[in-house]
Amino acid sequence: MMRPLRRIEALLALCLTTSAAVGCGHTAISPTVEQAQKLPADAAASRLTALIAKDQRVAEIAWRLALSNADLCPVTRLRAGWVLQSAGQYSTELRPVAERQYGLQGDLPGILSAPLNSPARAAGLRPGDLILAIEGEPLNSGAGGGRESYDGLQANIDRLNSAAVMGPMSLTVRRNGTERAVAVMPVQACAYVTQVEVRDDLRALSDGRTIFLSARIVDVAQDDHQLAFLLAHELAHAVLEHATVPDVQGERGALNTSLSLRRGLSSRAESDADTLGLYLLTRAGFDPRLAMQFLNAYAATAPGARYPQINLRGVYPSIPDRHRALEPVVSEIIDKQASGMPLIP
Ligand SMILES: [Zn+2]
Repeated sequence: MMRPLRRIEALLALCLTTSAAVGCGHTAISPTVEQAQKLPADAAASRLTALIAKDQRVAEIAWRLALSNADLCPVTRLRAGWVLQSAGQYSTELRPVAERQYGLQGDLPGILSAPLNSPARAAGLRPGDLILAIEGEPLNSGAGGGRESYDGLQANIDRLNSAAVMGPMSLTVRRNGTERAVAVMPVQACAYVTQVEVRDDLRALSDGRTIFLSARIVDVAQDDHQLAFLLAHELAHAVLEHATVPDVQGERGALNTSLSLRRGLSSRAESDADTLGLYLLTRAGFDPRLAMQFLNAYAATAPGARYPQINLRGVYPSIPDRHRALEPVVSEIIDKQASGMPLIP
């Protein structure tokens, strides 16, 4: 399993830009020590805010899809719908910002997102809340300090997930220094979770348990419908149990015999995921016509996607071919909606 240590990469990029700014950008004024120290902190704060806003945008759409399609997902579980974060997952430079802005402490899980229509939202939870205990049993806050690690948070998330599958949960939550009891009633939803990775390539993949989106491909989606297309396509791979299907575009590899043997299967998996994805997003209340526009936005960002893509993982149809194949699917979905037929392919 991949570990979400993406915040470290974010910080590395940040350090490079701030040191360049301090070293080269201000020849006229020599910055005081305070100014020199303040600059990285401000930059860290805005970088973290942007990153978390992106996580929250994805969390809303991902939850809607997971909730609306529970009846089609082969793996479901009782979920609270939240996305959690901890101070401990951040580097030492980002950690003070995360603690100050989101009330985080050590490895304790803080609410990053409580999406609309999630049990977490219904329970009144919101970003900035910190979960201290479950059923009166304290969660592990970790040793504090030290290197960034997701392990402590993951252990706490595992405990919360185990409790959620048993039904209603009683939590102790801290908000603005005040502790309160919060009752959460988990609901059945698709079991897959979504993570945004801080990376500058265009990548989306599903490993059967987690859907990974690069931060850059999230930015390609111009509205919620388009983002739903991207997420629903990956969810469809998971629903169809295509195992590990990395949707890496823009790479061109050599075509060899083993690849040509896989070609038919691979491109069929892609068109199946496209078709089912449109159904899944329509069931979640998104517009399939608007959602399909993601393909145009994608082609504008990755011009190579106008052609079939061949890489080590398989063969991907061109964007125009995907468009052509999906037009009749959209008509079919709209007809079924109009006549009240079940929205299944
Ligand atoms: Zn795919």
